[in-house]
Amino acid sequence: MLSNRAGKIKPSPTLAMDAKAKAIKAEGSDIVNFGVGEPDFDTPDNIKEAAIKAIREGFTKYTPVGGIDPLKDAVIEKFMKDNNLNYTRDEIIVSCGAKHSLYNIAQALFGPGDEVLIPSPYWVSYPDQVLLNEAMPVFVKTYEADSFMVKPEAIKSHITNKTKALILNSPSNPTGLTYDKKSLERIAEIVAKHNLYVISDEIYEKLLYDGVMHYSIASLDKEIKSRTIVVNGLSKSYAMTGWRIGFAAGPKEIIKAMTNIQSQSTSNPTSISQKAAVEALTGPQDFIKNMLSEFDRRRIFLIKELNSIPGISCITPTGAFYAFPNTSKLYGKSSGSIRISSSTDLALFLLEKANVALVHGGAFGDDNYIRLSYATSIDEIKKGAGRIREAVNQLS
Ligand SMILES: *Cc1c(COP(=O)(O)O)cnc(C)c1O
Repeated sequence: MLSNRAGKIKPSPTLAMDAKAKAIKAEGSDIVNFGVGEPDFDTPDNIKEAAIKAIREGFTKYTPVGGIDPLKDAVIEKFMKDNNLNYTRDEIIVSCGAKHSLYNIAQALFGPGDEVLIPSPYWVSYPDQVLLNEAMPVFVKTYEADSFMVKPEAIKSHITNKTKALILNSPSNPTGLTYDKKSLERIAEIVAKHNLYVISDEIYEKLLYDGVMHYSIASLDKEIKSRTIVVNGLSKSYAMTGWRIGFAAGPKEIIKAMTNIQSQSTSNPTSISQKAAVEALTGPQDFIKNMLSEFDRRRIFLIKELNSIPGISCITPTGAFYAFPNTSKLYGKSSGSIRISSSTDLALFLLEKANVALVHGGAFGDDNYIRLSYATSIDEIKKGAGRIREAVNQLS
């Protein structure tokens, strides 16, 4: 008999879609995969070399649970340089990916009776991590007309005496939108007034376009910093998804609790990956600029293509590597015996009829949309967009 907890959660829908697309591809079908949530770039050589050196030197044993000091120092330096945030070693934890840091936070802060505010659309793991800790996710709907930024009044109207925290994600997966400083200031005010915590997932902070700036809510003032746990990692910025290095920064007591939890679950993140992470953070940074200019080219191309397909409209994302087009005008249409009435129907139709894999918006809490990752080549994007156009044109 499985636990009550295990019954409450589902597998990550984005990872499931990716697995499905890869399985169809393995059977010989030529799938265009817009489903992936990881850069298609290889990890830079200097980072790989640092890992190889670590292995050669025998740096292959347990390390301190929350990360080696040189890595913590590199993380501290990063926060100083990128976010104007000042932390000490006991305010930092390195985990097995940002997802693991987020999970440690959920374990350290949430329990039965707690409510956690999650602006929707949201990244798929937030609600399930809250549920795994027997707390309640409370969704706060955001709207395309507001660039999917959560309105301070909407946060306010969902706060009860059980509300414990707000999860923010900027730049956002799935919408690709980035919070401006003014909005963050207004959110910070409410958070302080109602004595909440903020969990700020900033994993896409380096993937920004059109001159948009990233602000960490924690950097606004001392008060909000004392209530915020900032989460970041190397997966997206350095094309290091498989290395599993993420980190969090926040109040000492919370970091200490997270470290204890980590010590009883995974112990330290891989020693070899930690050495690679030091190199990623302190070595040359031009890789990011090159990757970003390629992402930018694809972004502009894909958004233009999507907007030229009748029935689809897509706002221009300013961060991350996702397009989140509105497909609701297609619902109610049919092709032969297939009727499209939801984002799930549409995603399945495109997978089966057009050999295009993407993720239905329902997975992120909004059925009016689908998510396409443009972490794939321009040629694939061109091919995929053409297939979507053709398939959508068959709907009437
Ligand atoms: C990819 C992703 C993560 C997790 O990244 P890892 O460091 O690989 O665990 C966290 N949050 C968001 C929004 C993501 O898209």
